[in-house]
Amino acid sequence: MAPLLEIKGLKTHFATDDGILQAVDGVDITINRGETLCVVGESGCGKTVTAMSILQLIAMPPGRIVEGQIIFEGRDLVPLTSSELDEVRAKEIGFIFQEPMTSLNPVLTVGEQIAESLRRHEGLPQKHALARTVEMLKLVQIPNAEARVHDYPHQFSGGMRQRVMIAMALACKPKLVIADEPTTALDVTIQAQILDLLQDMKERFGMAVMLITHAMGVVAETAQRVVVMYAGKVVEEATVDSLFEHPSHPYTQGLIRSIPRIDLDSEHKSRLEAIGGSVPILINPAPGCRFAPRCRYAMSLCTETEPVLREIAPGHRMACHLGEAP
Ligand code: SF4
Repeated sequence: MAPLLEIKGLKTHFATDDGILQAVDGVDITINRGETLCVVGESGCGKTVTAMSILQLIAMPPGRIVEGQIIFEGRDLVPLTSSELDEVRAKEIGFIFQEPMTSLNPVLTVGEQIAESLRRHEGLPQKHALARTVEMLKLVQIPNAEARVHDYPHQFSGGMRQRVMIAMALACKPKLVIADEPTTALDVTIQAQILDLLQDMKERFGMAVMLITHAMGVVAETAQRVVVMYAGKVVEEATVDSLFEHPSHPYTQGLIRSIPRIDLDSEHKSRLEAIGGSVPILINPAPGCRFAPRCRYAMSLCTETEPVLREIAPGHRMACHLGEAP
């Protein structure tokens, strides 16, 4: 079966006073129907820009998709006009942002906002749209949904606002939901509830989820497949089992070593390790592998030649010179 979404050779760059910032630089990502794909990496690795490029939610200018295709259900989204993209947004691809207050309209009730989406995209009359909105708020476990539908965003707690955001993103039953660090702004206990809710909704509606996160623990809990990004590029891609059993790229290994392990006794517990250094500024990046300045295995080839993604096991690809055929 054809994938639901195929990102091919995507390059999204930003014009800055210091030069062109290559935030996303030749990214290929595939999402299959009904799966949860996690895109993981530190801040500044290009994962949010990749996600936002799908629906052209980046500020243009200074941002610009300079190359590549984003094929959704057989149609390239890159050349679409803003009104054509409006149809795709919400109806076919829902987006859940990190901080719902920035995407919910503070002067409209949550009911008005969700109902508006249903009226616009599904042509529902007001009465039916409001009834569906209450139904959605119940599904995302907002207590007393019939009354709370008339409340404004500021009258909800952070966790409840994120539930409202999920209800809004899912109202038109999209085939794909993109969730960009949806729990970052929340307390730890609420984070787990929101991830469970997202998983629950995914199963109920049969949609695919692209979950952007910097937390490997979240990846282990939620993903079926994982894409690891570093400095605007994909450096490893695998099923979640393959990635955790055989992490192959030194950056992925570093991310996994930085996860706290509660399953090991004190004798076997190794120290948590941070990855030294930081993500490079992506204006005129140095040739070769972008991870080289932080990599414990770097060799002269690494600073001369950029490694390309290659298959190292069925469904498992990485971009690193280690283990390459001579
Ligand atoms: Fe390290 Fe070289 Fe592999 Fe880059 S290509 S991750 S520098 S070993």
